[in-house]
Amino acid sequence: MSTEQEFPPPPGPEEESVCRVCGYDEELFWEHGWPTNAICPCCGNESDIKDLSLRGIRDYRGEWVGHGANWDSPLDKPKDWDLLKQIANIPPEWR
Ligand SMILES: [Zn+2]
Repeated sequence: MSTEQEFPPPPGPEEESVCRVCGYDEELFWEHGWPTNAICPCCGNESDIKDLSLRGIRDYRGEWVGHGANWDSPLDKPKDWDLLKQIANIPPEWR
C-alpha cells in the first residue's frame, strides 16, 4: 500500500454480484470498486454510478415492483422464480 493517495478510493465494493434493486445474483454488477454497467436481466437496472444512491435504488425498485416486477429479459426467468425469495437477497444496506 502506498502512503500517498492522490485519488479517493473507488466508491463501490471490490466485487458485487447481487443486484441492489432486485436481489438477482448471477451477474457481476460491481468490480474493483466501479459499476460494470451490466444490465440486470430481471429488473433491467444498469449498474451505474447512480446506484450509489439508496433513494435512487428504492425509487427504481418501487417502480419496477409497482409495474408487476416483470423480467427485462423474460427468457432468463426461471420457471420456479419467486420474487419474495429473490428480494430477500438484497443486501441490507440497499433495502
Ligand atoms: Zn435487478
